[in-house]
Amino acid sequence: MADFEAMKVGVLSGVGRAKAEALAAVAVESVLDLLTYYPRRYIDRTNQAAIGDLEDGVEAMVMAQVDSVFSKRLPGRRTMVRVAVSDDSGRLSLVFFNQPWRDRQLAEGQEVVVFGKLDRYRGQHQMTNPIVDLVGDETGRIVPVYPQSAKAGLQTREIRRWVDEALRRSQPRGISDPVPETLRQRHGLIGRHRALDRIHRPTTQDDRYSARDRLVFDELLRLQLKLIMRKRAVEQAAVGISHDAGAELVERFTGSLGFPLTGAQHRVIGEVVADMARPVPMHRLLQGDVGAGKTVVAVAAMLTAVQGGHQAALMAPTEVLATQHFLGIRSLLEGLVVSTDDSLLGERPLRVALLANPTPGAERSRIQESLADGVIDVVIGTHALIQEAVGFSSLGVVVVDEQHRFGVEQRAALRAKGSQGASPDVLVMTATPIPRTAAMTVYGDLDVSVLDEMPPGRTPIATRWAQTAAEEAGVWEQVRSEVGRGGQAYVVCPLIEESAGVDARSATEIYERLRAGELSGLRVGLLHGRLTPAEKRSAMDRFRVGEIDVLVATTVIEVGVDVPNAAIMVVVDADRFGIAQLHQLRGRVGRGDRPAACWLLAADAVGVAAERLRALEGTTDGFELAEVDLELRGEGTILGERQKGRNDLQLASLRRDKEWVVWARRAAGEMLDDDPGLQRHGELRSEVELLLVDGDADYLMKS
Ligand code: ADP
Ligand code: MG
Repeated sequence: MADFEAMKVGVLSGVGRAKAEALAAVAVESVLDLLTYYPRRYIDRTNQAAIGDLEDGVEAMVMAQVDSVFSKRLPGRRTMVRVAVSDDSGRLSLVFFNQPWRDRQLAEGQEVVVFGKLDRYRGQHQMTNPIVDLVGDETGRIVPVYPQSAKAGLQTREIRRWVDEALRRSQPRGISDPVPETLRQRHGLIGRHRALDRIHRPTTQDDRYSARDRLVFDELLRLQLKLIMRKRAVEQAAVGISHDAGAELVERFTGSLGFPLTGAQHRVIGEVVADMARPVPMHRLLQGDVGAGKTVVAVAAMLTAVQGGHQAALMAPTEVLATQHFLGIRSLLEGLVVSTDDSLLGERPLRVALLANPTPGAERSRIQESLADGVIDVVIGTHALIQEAVGFSSLGVVVVDEQHRFGVEQRAALRAKGSQGASPDVLVMTATPIPRTAAMTVYGDLDVSVLDEMPPGRTPIATRWAQTAAEEAGVWEQVRSEVGRGGQAYVVCPLIEESAGVDARSATEIYERLRAGELSGLRVGLLHGRLTPAEKRSAMDRFRVGEIDVLVATTVIEVGVDVPNAAIMVVVDADRFGIAQLHQLRGRVGRGDRPAACWLLAADAVGVAAERLRALEGTTDGFELAEVDLELRGEGTILGERQKGRNDLQLASLRRDKEWVVWARRAAGEMLDDDPGLQRHGELRSEVELLLVDGDADYLMKS
């Protein structure tokens, strides 16, 4: 691969200056780029559509011959190119607006593949601005179609010829295959040379699939090798704290809860504590649906550190949430004592503090001092905890609530907070379930614990999509009668354009409207991002103690807010939210004994938005929803769509290749157990370095 990378495409016959430029336009500069410039799709000549069979309004792909090209200038510097094409079954006209280069690209007699939607113009079949690929006089049964090649003026035939040449010229030396034979056999993988050949010129459909499998495996194997090596390197370099796994403080805590732990909580606490006992710093992701009981696990981790005389910090994404956590955790820890040498009784109460913006200046500096002196055991706050110059006596563990707002930089900042260079353990909690394979890829350097069991007694949340005005009116009636029965409700308004101003306005408008109309006579409150921290707190407090019946809020209530008496939630313009967010939101209800309901208002949701709403009606299982979400979104958003630079994940798809992710991870792990530095797999190691630029892995970590 390194040799191919060193060769520029100019070495191939037929690649002159113009073709080299055309190739560069599609980011193909070296022979390696060319070999990994995979077809976007394939056309099977034996079962492709014929022009005569196309239906109006339907997208289709046909292979046809160019009969004539006619270009015309329209008023206002616009251009139109009209191209007549035909096959044995009929003719079709292609119309291109403002693509004058089509005139030069297409010529009579050429074979083209056309992809577009058929419409009708003055009774004539036509496609407007279709995608066109030049295939040349292809003879094979299965014709590859390359991405963006048409615009760059590249023909499939040429690309194939160059690929052929590159493969042929490497024949004498052979293209080495760095994947060990045993692994290839285990997964029935074909050799790499064959795979590269077949992906560019398959003769059967089977060829395509076996080639793809092999190349997908290679991509995922390289990625997993990189992720696992990085994880192990970090573990080796960092000095952690070996916490005491037998901490009886944890047992006293769980014994004081008033409910038995769920099986999952029990298991996960075991995983976390065992990890904390290891001398390398823990870096663990705790996934659990809303309401799965993550707080108890977090507290167990914190107490494991406190027991040994260390401190624990919990960071929440917002002040409101930090305050909520503080109140909740303080009451969970009430009555717990820790042993101490400097007291007559040999024990003292556990000390918990909140360090968030509402904390007044004087108290703030007092807390900071106590943290530095080790007087405070557990501190709860926002990210300011690590950003500010807060010093700890000995920070043993950090719990981070909600992973997506906690980046690599923050993790690094933590290292400075431990005592004597020891890095604190890190537990990241998320209520946004990530499908297992995605977690393996995106968080490949994390260990993952999953709370996959709900505590008993949670009221199921009946979720309904209200589509019509009559249904919406019914929803507000329900809210009124729920309040009449002594209950409370949330009304959630969408974030619009990420602009805090507009956002506040939409919530305010809905608030005004409801107060004057549908919910008149009820005590309605308002909470949005533009309020001052004091106003926000006051709104939350009044809702919590029941002075407000209905809280109209933006997504500031997304996580952590816990008011058991509020069992009804209405989400306005629900089609503007993602699946994960809606699921997260509705987790705010169903926390008490009242029957819980979530109403999704969306008058004209269609397509994917409608499917999202139906999925939410259909299940309350967060992992199931995560899978649906991945299906609906495609993997683009998870792997990210990189704008520039080489991306080694050309073929692999988290959606289609779940098994391959698992297998590649396993293979990489085994290989590295056996040969940690890949000394005996030198070629594979250099490929990982060559193909996976550092940015790739970093990018995956951050996004
Ligand atoms: P999460 O943070 O995962 O959304 P919480 O930790 O806030 O969930 O827990 C949700 C609710 O469930 C809390 O009221 C908590 O006291 C309760 N809870 C947690 N674990 C159990 C359990 N094993 N049995 C019964 N109730 C539990
Ligand atoms: Mg929680």
